[in-house]
Parts: sequence; structure tokens; C-alpha cells
Amino acid sequence: MTAGPGQGAGAIFLDRDGVITANVLNPATGEFEAAHALEDFAVLPGAVEALLRFDRAGWPLFLVSNQPDAALGKAGIETIQEIHARMMAHLAPAGIRFVEAYYCYHHPKGHVAPFAGPCACRKPSPHFLLKARDAHGVDLSKSWMIGDRETDIACGRAAGARTIRVGEATDTAAEACVPDLAAAADRILSRPPDQRPGKRPPRPRPAAA
Ligand SMILES: [Mg+2]
Ligand SMILES: [Zn+2]
Repeated sequence: MTAGPGQGAGAIFLDRDGVITANVLNPATGEFEAAHALEDFAVLPGAVEALLRFDRAGWPLFLVSNQPDAALGKAGIETIQEIHARMMAHLAPAGIRFVEAYYCYHHPKGHVAPFAGPCACRKPSPHFLLKARDAHGVDLSKSWMIGDRETDIACGRAAGARTIRVGEATDTAAEACVPDLAAAADRILSRPPDQRPGKRPPRPRPAAA
């Protein structure tokens, strides 16, 4: 079972589409986007194992996702919620859960009530990271935001978290760019134990007599 964050501990904040679940080509726009239909839902290879490694290392996991398709009329809110349910059903057997799954359903150019219009929570706003700090005592300076778009990186940076971009990026403000979530886990989990969540820095050793 995924641990909740201890007061003052760091956490891993994860974008969903392109990090945990696969983006799919939307023929209408020619762009890779979040799955709009249940049959397009797929968890990326290696994602469950990477989440499990974070969990075993004691990192609390938070999901932070923009899902504007209902606001834009591309999908019903029921479909969006069902895709979330399927993802959680996929992760549950491994014992993975999120402390919170934060979703922004809004879009500034949306036309479908009640999600149309600007909001405070859509990334790159750091809204949900600040909420995790306030609600769960997360220390954002010890935390990481992992995403596949620059809006994810801007969100993490605005919150004072460290950032990793996954996928291909030639120009990013992220601290690192790696191919996928497994590589992001490699990078974060290879850090010294004193930089992991909830661990105190080691005492300086007494000088040898
Ligand atoms: Mg994404
Ligand atoms: Zn929002």
C-alpha cells in the first residue's frame, strides 16, 4: 500500500498522459492527445514497475492531470472518469494508489458547462502542488514533478519542485529529460539515501582518532 506523506516529506507528482498512460493520435488534429475513448486507453510499458519502485522507496505519489476534453466537447465526463477508473484498476493489483489524483477538467476555450472557462487549477498553474503541500504537509522543495510537456515542467518549477521531462524534448527547462518513467525512476532513486523522502541527513562522522 502506498504510504501517505509524512509531514515535511517530499513526494512524486506525476502527469498522466504520456507518462503513465499512452497518448493516442487524434486524426482530427494530427496530434498525440489523451485517449478520448475507452478502447484507446493503455498503460505505457514499464510504468507500473516504475511506480512500484517509487512506492517501495517510500515516495508518496500524486497524480496531477489536465483533462479538458469534456470542456472542449471531445469526450463525455463519464468517459474521462471511466478512463481514470480503468487506470486505477490496472494499478491496484500492484498495490499502487495515489495519495490524491488531482484533475483539472477545465479549459479556457471550453464551451461545455460546467467546465468551460478559465480556472485556477490547470497546469502550468502550481495549484494542485500547493494544495498537496497545504493538505498533506508535502515539502515541495524535496519533491519532483514528472511530465511530458513543458506545462508540466513550468507547474513543477512554479511550485519550487524539481522537474524531469519524459519523452523527446530538445528545449526544456526541466532538470533532466529522459525517455520514460522507468528512466525517471532510475534517476531519482539513484540519489543518496539522505535525499530521499522522510530521511534525515546523516550525522557527520566523528574524526578518526
Ligand atoms: Mg502529458
Ligand atoms: Zn482547472
